[in-house]
This record gives sequence, C-alpha cells and structure tokens, in this order.
Amino acid sequence: MTTAARAACIVGWPVGHSRSPLIHNYWLKHYGIDGAYRREAMPPDEFAAFVKNLAARGYVGANVTLPHKEAALALSQPDDRAEAVGAANTLWLDGASLRSTNTDVEGFLDNLDASALHWDRDLGTAVVLGAGGAARAVVYGLVLRRLERIMVVNRTGDRAEALRRRFGQSVHPVPWDERSAALAGAGLLVNATTLGMDHQGGLTLDIGRLPGHALVADLVYAPLLTPLLAAATARGLRTADGLGMLLHQAVRGFTLWFGKKPQVTDELRALVEADLTASTSRSGGIT
Ligand code: NAP
Repeated sequence: MTTAARAACIVGWPVGHSRSPLIHNYWLKHYGIDGAYRREAMPPDEFAAFVKNLAARGYVGANVTLPHKEAALALSQPDDRAEAVGAANTLWLDGASLRSTNTDVEGFLDNLDASALHWDRDLGTAVVLGAGGAARAVVYGLVLRRLERIMVVNRTGDRAEALRRRFGQSVHPVPWDERSAALAGAGLLVNATTLGMDHQGGLTLDIGRLPGHALVADLVYAPLLTPLLAAATARGLRTADGLGMLLHQAVRGFTLWFGKKPQVTDELRALVEADLTASTSRSGGIT
C-alpha cells in the first residue's frame, strides 16, 4: 500500500505574492520528500470552514498570512508564542487537534543568531520601531532573551502602550518624534514598520546616534537592501535583513509537516533573492 504524499499550504487573501511556496518546494525537492506545498486564496468569510476541513482537503498543516492570523489563533490550540503575540502564522494537525504557533518569533531570533554571533550578550537597550503584528513577535522574542530595556517607538502611541501592557515593564513606549534620540546607547535597532518597503514611505532616522557596536535589523525584505540597512552598512554597523528572517521562520512549519528540520542555506537564499529582485524589477521599484 502506498502512503499518500503529505501536503501543506499557505492560506491568505491575497496569497499570490507569498514566497513560502518557493521556500518549501525547494526544501521538498532538496530533501527528496514526496510532498506538496500549495497556495490557497481564501476570503475571510471562507477561512473558518477551510481550517475546519484542513484534513479533509488533504493537508497536514498550513501557513497563514494576512488577513487570517488572528482568526487562525481563535480557531486552534495555540502554543505560548502564538498566544503571546496574539496571532498564529503556522497550523498543524496533531491527531484530531488543530494546533498553532507563531514562527516569526524564532525567525527573528534565529536570523539574528545567524547574522551576528552573541548579539544578545550585554546588549543593554533595544529600540523597536513599530507596534503591529511583526513588532509583537520581535518584542516577545526579545523578552524571551531577557532583554531588560526595550524601547517601542510607534507612530500611534496607544499601540506602543498596548505592547507594554502585553509584555510588561521591560517595554518602554517612546513617542514617534523622539525616535532618533532613542537610539543613543542602543545595542539593537529593529525596523518592524512598513517604512522602507517598495511603494511605501521612507523612514527618517538619524542612525548616527547609534553606538559603533550596534546591530541593525530590518524586517522589510522588498527591497532586500533597505535604505536603513544601506545606511547602517555605510556606517560600518552589523546588520540582519528581512529575507533572513523570512527563511528562518519557515523552518518550524516544514519540520512539523514533513518531519525533517531543513537548513537555511546560501543556495536557498540566492533562489528567493533572485525571485524578489525579478519581481521588484517587474514592478519598477528599484531605484
Ligand atoms: P502592521 O501590523 O500593519 O504594522 C505596521 C506598522 O508600521 C505599525 O507599527 C504602523 O504604525 C507602522 N507604520 C505604517 N505606516 C507608517 C508611517 N507612515 N509612519 C510611521 N509608522 C508607520 O504590519 P506587520 O505585519 O507588523 O508588518 C510590518 C513589516 O514587517 C512589513 O514590512 C512586513 O512585510 C514585515 N514583516 C517581515 C517578516 C519577515 O519574515 N521578514 C515577517 C513579518 C512581517 P501605526 O501603528 O501608527 O499604524
């Protein structure tokens, strides 16, 4: 008797822009696993039914992207990470249970570990720009690494305050207008806003205030080299880019669905990088 191939998918609305199929299908082929990873475009009013019928549709799990991450959390049994972040981006069937996690937390941390050895030793203060879903994953990751002082700088002050309530006293909300001043003495700067993305506004920031040992991370990966990362590199600072986080966050889902922990290699990175560059060129976004 042959066993049916395992399948997983990315479900979102829209879902055409996602690089997850490229990443997971690369790993399936690379490790010679008889499996499949597909896109599933699902409008919000059909998401709950889709998730409830995941097994009947032939899936062992799924990645979840906008706008379904909060619904995915509510419809599943979340682990500590998904619960803390308030959103789930990865689902898997565990017997009859539908379980969930948020892999942006480890994607962020593992990428920093891979990009800058011992980055969290004697770090002191971290500055996080943004207070949306990605920023929540970043701040939770920093809390897990026991950072004592996390300055959260957000345009809408209430959302930064909400992160303080969610994650506790190590979070210090800072007004958006004070973002450059907040950099003095910071060992880590993370951009978790959409600023710097193709077709979005630019980020105005005086990174000259950062100390010379600082690490600068940008979650934005289109363009790959954001203006923030270019400025940090020109100053000789260490950097970690958004593509690295995207690749590292994919590891857990693949492991859960297909039973093999995959490696983030230079070859995979080059594959996704080429795809991102090609689509940026097509949309005329390279400046
Ligand atoms: P989100 O929930 O919509 O949050 C957007 C954030 O950007 C908010 O803090 C928002 O501030 C801020 N923002 C937007 N426009 C702004 C402006 N003009 N001036 C100042 N602040 C502005 O989005 P998200 O899901 O957190 O994603 C944020 C970024 O992270 C996106 O670029 C996304 O692609 C990236 N991301 C990357 C990865 C990865 O693996 N590399 C993973 C997740 C997310 P307000 O609260 O004031 O609106």
